[in-house]
Amino acid sequence: MSSPASASSPHPAPAGWHLEHSYAQLPEAFHVAFNPTPVREPKLVILNRALADSLGLDADQLNQAGWFAGNELPPGARPLAQAYAGHQFGNFTMLGDGRAILLGEQLTPDGRRFDIQLKGSGQTPFSRRGDGRATLGPMLREYIISEAMHALGIPTTRSMAVVTTGELVRRDGMLPGAVLTRVAASHIRVGTFEYAAARGEKALLQALADYTLQRHYPDAASAPQPYLALLESVIERQAALIARWQHVGFIHGVMNTDNMALSGETIDYGPCAFMDAYDPATVFSSIDHQGRYAYSRQPFIAQWNLARFAEALLPLLDPVEEKAVELANDAVVGFELIFKRHWLAGMRAKLGLFTDEGDDLALIESLLQWMQKTDADFTNTFRALSAPGSRSISSDPVFLDWHQRWQDRLARQPQPAQAVQESMRQHNPVIIPRNHKVEEALAAAVEREDLSVMERLLAVLAKPYDHTQLPPEEYLAGLPSGDYQTFCGT
Ligand code: AMP
Ligand code: MG
Repeated sequence: MSSPASASSPHPAPAGWHLEHSYAQLPEAFHVAFNPTPVREPKLVILNRALADSLGLDADQLNQAGWFAGNELPPGARPLAQAYAGHQFGNFTMLGDGRAILLGEQLTPDGRRFDIQLKGSGQTPFSRRGDGRATLGPMLREYIISEAMHALGIPTTRSMAVVTTGELVRRDGMLPGAVLTRVAASHIRVGTFEYAAARGEKALLQALADYTLQRHYPDAASAPQPYLALLESVIERQAALIARWQHVGFIHGVMNTDNMALSGETIDYGPCAFMDAYDPATVFSSIDHQGRYAYSRQPFIAQWNLARFAEALLPLLDPVEEKAVELANDAVVGFELIFKRHWLAGMRAKLGLFTDEGDDLALIESLLQWMQKTDADFTNTFRALSAPGSRSISSDPVFLDWHQRWQDRLARQPQPAQAVQESMRQHNPVIIPRNHKVEEALAAAVEREDLSVMERLLAVLAKPYDHTQLPPEEYLAGLPSGDYQTFCGT
């Protein structure tokens, strides 16, 4: 297998396309060459010009709906569907790209590598009983939320374009079909390793692990025990990622192992949403009856998924099985402390704490308890704490007592108030994609073909840490009713 950083053609193709295919060099078990199925009438709904630019693509020459619908292939594309497995709500299944096609990996002018994937591009050998298609609402929703996550500074796949297909797709009624072009550091999932392990051939597992090391963890590749280093590095990145989710109230909704990327990016936006009022039990997905993927459970689920990853890696960790199990177990148990370290660091930052004190956790938890009891809005409470006059947030004696403790704590660190406020503003977003604003934007786009509502929302979401120019109140407020749900809409 040649390195992902292998030499490439000197002249980029039209529009700046520069596609390579390192994943395709993995053993055949991991992919099937397969073309997207052309659609009746591709029409560009939205193009992410800034993202295109950053990939070395010329947005003006990208105005070709055919490329983003799969009707025509960009120069150098070698389409394939990826094989993977996954635990879905705890149950193991062989999956694979049932409605997505990888066109290739775009090499950016500064040498980075990104998967370019069409989602909703038709049936593949992995479609099982599915139609291989996606509908406009959910694809625009992924576009909005992934771009909002990126603006928040949280690792995520991104969205380059959405096209409609001119075809109707049967879901709850007939809905407009759409294809999303997704950009990702890679689409290697925990489920890809589960797939390799389930095939029972160590060579497959090793090829995948070596590839993942080269592509995402070059430092671990040169560690004395590269596969253990891979496990530990993936755990570290996931712990950091989930902590970031918790800090902004993001709820993924379907943390199945096939939806956990080895790169450490947030991936597969389905029934996800941001929490308004602080409630650790918040669940959004209508198919998650047990609350398996509730806000407060995300760290546990991440650890559970990482245990599945560690299990898959066992044959590579040590030739002696008990030894391998011990190494895997230690690493997975270690997630808890690593997550807590990331979580606490981020919560300290949200409260402007530069130093560490033993009572910080208690201080943070008191605030969260008060917020939960009073249905305080998660984002807006931290925003208000980042502004002058935060004592007036509430006249509740419980809050005032907490506020005094916080002020006393701030007074015990050397940083001046100015630095505290500046730092808090960099860690507490003013704006998150409020569910009612997302729904409003989707309704305008899907029901009235009016993209202007979504474009205004995207513009507001692009500057989440600008505390000086607040967007209009309608973008800042959550809806009082706590029973918002999204629907998988696949
Ligand atoms: P997701 O819920 O998007 O993470 O998808 C889980 C699995 O179901 C993946 O293997 C998808 O490719 C597959 N899948 C989802 N929707 C469809 C569809 N409409 N047609 C075929 N496969 C699908
Ligand atoms: Mg998925």
